[in-house]
Amino acid sequence: MSDEKVTCIVVGAGPAGSAAALVLACAGIEVLLLERGETVGCKNLFGGVLYTTILDKLIPTWMEEAPLERYVTRKRFSLMAKDSEVALDFKTKRYEQHPKRNFSFVVLRAKFDPWFAGKAEEAGAMLATGIMVKELIIENGKVIGVRTEPGNEEYFADVVISAEGVHSYLTLQAGLRHGEFDPDHIVTAAKEVIKLDKSVIEDRFQLEGNEGVAGAYFGEGLFGMFGAGFVYTNKDSLSIGTGVTIGEMIRNKKNPNEILEHFKQHPAIRTLIRGGETIEYSAHMIPEYGYDHRPGLFNDGFLVTGDAAGLVNSSHHQEGTNLAMASGVYAAETVIEAVKKNDFSKATLSMYEQKLENSFVLKDLKKYRHMTNFFNTNPHFLRDYPELAAELLGDYFALSDRPKGEVEKEVFRKMRRRVPILTMLTDLWKAKKALM
Ligand code: FAD
Repeated sequence: MSDEKVTCIVVGAGPAGSAAALVLACAGIEVLLLERGETVGCKNLFGGVLYTTILDKLIPTWMEEAPLERYVTRKRFSLMAKDSEVALDFKTKRYEQHPKRNFSFVVLRAKFDPWFAGKAEEAGAMLATGIMVKELIIENGKVIGVRTEPGNEEYFADVVISAEGVHSYLTLQAGLRHGEFDPDHIVTAAKEVIKLDKSVIEDRFQLEGNEGVAGAYFGEGLFGMFGAGFVYTNKDSLSIGTGVTIGEMIRNKKNPNEILEHFKQHPAIRTLIRGGETIEYSAHMIPEYGYDHRPGLFNDGFLVTGDAAGLVNSSHHQEGTNLAMASGVYAAETVIEAVKKNDFSKATLSMYEQKLENSFVLKDLKKYRHMTNFFNTNPHFLRDYPELAAELLGDYFALSDRPKGEVEKEVFRKMRRRVPILTMLTDLWKAKKALM
């Protein structure tokens, strides 16, 4: 196929790339989807919950067809202290009645990604695996194709969509991203899949049928650093992991493996994974650029989607797959318009950014634009407050023969001594601004 020209080349068959290729193929546009993995999904990992609102528009029958593990009916947010856990635990039957189960499914990417790319292929996209795009071919400032490995082959197109994920060398080459990653805006995550009997998982996590849990953890389990731990229930395994910004790891002299091992030893976690067997170990980066630090999204003959564009909502919502799919769809719609005008210039492709600005993708990134900076400049937040909350609750619930009123007063006095009311109110106000 070398030296041939197609209308569009999509680099990377993750959620963004497969969504783009599917929409283009359905519109009858010639599209080549290039994936570096020998098989689609073999190099991909996430937590994770797949958010399926966009998938629902693309493939209405996804619930019957896609390899899904469990739908999320229980969400936990935990503050971890040294030997305690303070948690917000939300469990509902409402999502079971929802026809699409609240569009939130735990999946394993090694199973889901090949299925999704297969759908693009069925629709007419040409999928080629085991091909890594090493650089863009640029002529007079316009992207006209890609050069690949192995074989140093060249493929030409009117427009190239980068859906290559967080490393995004092509955006660097296209001049849309500058230099090295900022260590305070990039997370390295380590993850294990731990095998456990289905019935053990259901008993341990209080689940019925195909219900599932999404748990997010903060505080001491990650040595108090800015980041999160996670536990997700698959059918007969758990996905468990930790992600911390590289900046925090450097400052605290910790590495991803050490953090994950520490997390697994915490009493809130070790009882969940007890008796399980680790069957997979992997690591991956997450871009946390936010609205203000994201790279450029388009250039002459070039569009950037998903993680390559830093489109991850890393607030407590922890969404990436839906933003990736949405950006893939908008990139494809932009290409369809460009084909109609036979104009693949920057001016025409700029409508892609407008589509993202008008959608939840950039609106959500804008809403949480101060979050990363807030946690980076207030490291005490995840280090001190979980300990304080656990200590005060420990005192409050400690049984004694003293009158309850006296105990309450003492707990409040201790709280005020440890953190002056004004400091606490200022912290809460700053947290509200960053997160709500
Ligand atoms: P990717 O999924 O990274 O796909 C990129 C694809 O491009 C890959 O197939 C890769 O092999 C291929 N590729 C890369 N370079 C090249 C090249 N040069 N040539 C050819 N192919 C190439 N999101 C959620 O919604 N829910 C979660 O629970 C969640 N948890 C997460 C937990 C972790 C530990 C991590 C790391 C991420 C998590 N995310 C989560 C984020 C989510 O995984 C990403 O936002 C999403 O996968 C981005 O999709 P993408 O298609 O842009 O990139």
